[in-house]
Amino acid sequence: MKVGIVGLGLIGGSLGLDLRSRGLEVLGVSRRRSVCEIARDRGAVDEASVDLALLQKADVIFICTPLSAIAPTVQQLIPLVSSNTILTDVGSVKQSIAATCSKLSPNFVGGHPMAGTAEQGIEAAQANLFAGAPYVLTPTETTPATALKVVEDLVGLLDARLYICSPARHDRAVAFISHLPLFASAGLIQTCLRESDSEVLQLAQKLASSGFRDTSRIGGGNPELGVAIARHNRLELARSLRQYRQVLDTLIEEIEGENWDAIEQSLQENQGARPDFLN
Ligand code: NAP
Repeated sequence: MKVGIVGLGLIGGSLGLDLRSRGLEVLGVSRRRSVCEIARDRGAVDEASVDLALLQKADVIFICTPLSAIAPTVQQLIPLVSSNTILTDVGSVKQSIAATCSKLSPNFVGGHPMAGTAEQGIEAAQANLFAGAPYVLTPTETTPATALKVVEDLVGLLDARLYICSPARHDRAVAFISHLPLFASAGLIQTCLRESDSEVLQLAQKLASSGFRDTSRIGGGNPELGVAIARHNRLELARSLRQYRQVLDTLIEEIEGENWDAIEQSLQENQGARPDFLN
């Protein structure tokens, strides 16, 4: 089987390393020639090009570009590939992409490997990135079962944990465990920056240690990724942030009302519930 990959960055490069090591032929396309060369040198692709025409012979194509380039890439691929070619993406948000791409291609299967690192680009690509991690496929009513099965089998080759759900459920669930944490963390940094006493702010910066490092990590990361997530999962992100605000309001009331029993009860509930989110 020939596999195509568009976007040879962290996710595309890592997919290429794994799929080649499982004996598949991998053809890669990226915007920059230098990235194509690095991908070839690192063994992530057999052949690479800046021209999508390289993928004419691919049986399955993974689209691993930033979110905003996924649907335009599908549109560019349609005149180049056969109607049997299966297209799948790796975008972190699914509903808007599934709605557009399922109309563009009869064989589109939405996907989201839930693995990553803080780094980006082909240099950050690594073998076995997806092993043991969840990989969600989000078929719609029009997704052909045969196309879904082919992508399922490829996910199996990555040793990832396969989940199947609708694009809408995916976006609602990841809003809670991925997008809300990003914006809660971003809000935390913003809150600190609003301290009006500059001496207190400077002291806080000097005293910040592991707790602040852990809780600020995702909110202090790549701004483009945060904006793309907010733009593409706007409604579910806003819903989860409103729920978060209600919880914060309750906490403020309990703290101001010295309701230590209620606070202890919710912290105990959290202590018991957290492992369920961490497998
Ligand atoms: P990345 O490391 O920045 O890689 C993206 C690659 O896409 C770049 O190498 C870039 O190529 C290429 N690219 C950008 N626009 C393109 C275009 N119009 N046509 C062809 N190639 C293009 O990003 P990433 O972290 O791999 O993320 C890629 C996708 O994976 C995103 O949709 C993201 O939502 C999803 N995802 C990311 C993570 C994560 O933790 N990072 C996890 C799960 C899913 P050039 O360098 O050649 O310009």
